[in-house]
Amino acid sequence: MTEEASIVKGADWVLCEERGPGVPEGIYGVACMTCEARSPLFDDDQLPVAVWAIQHVQQEPAHRQFIATTERHWRVHPRSGPTPPAPDSFLQRAAGPAFVGLMCLLTALAGLLPAALN
Ligand SMILES: [Zn+2]
Repeated sequence: MTEEASIVKGADWVLCEERGPGVPEGIYGVACMTCEARSPLFDDDQLPVAVWAIQHVQQEPAHRQFIATTERHWRVHPRSGPTPPAPDSFLQRAAGPAFVGLMCLLTALAGLLPAALN
C-alpha cells in the first residue's frame, strides 16, 4: 500500500509525493562546481554525500563549491472522491461553450482592429 501526501490539488488531478516500500524519501547526490566530478547517488542518507564532498576537497583543495541535489518521487493521479454535484456540472457545461464563443469573438475583433487602424 502506498502512503501519499498531497502537494498540489487541481480540478481533476492531485500531485503527491510518492512514499511506501521501495520508494526512497530522497535520493541525494552532490556535484563539484569546479570540475566534472559527481558523487554516487544515495537513498535516504545525506552522510555519504557529505563524506564524498570532503574527500573530494582533500584530493583537490581548490575545489570547494558543490551543488547538492535531492530527488524525490512524485505521482499525479486523478482526483478521487465524490463527483461534483449537478449544479456545478451544469455550470461547467453551460460556461464551456460560452467561453469558447467569447474567445472566438475576441479573436475576430483582434483581427479586425489592425484593419480598422490602417
Ligand atoms: Zn572538483
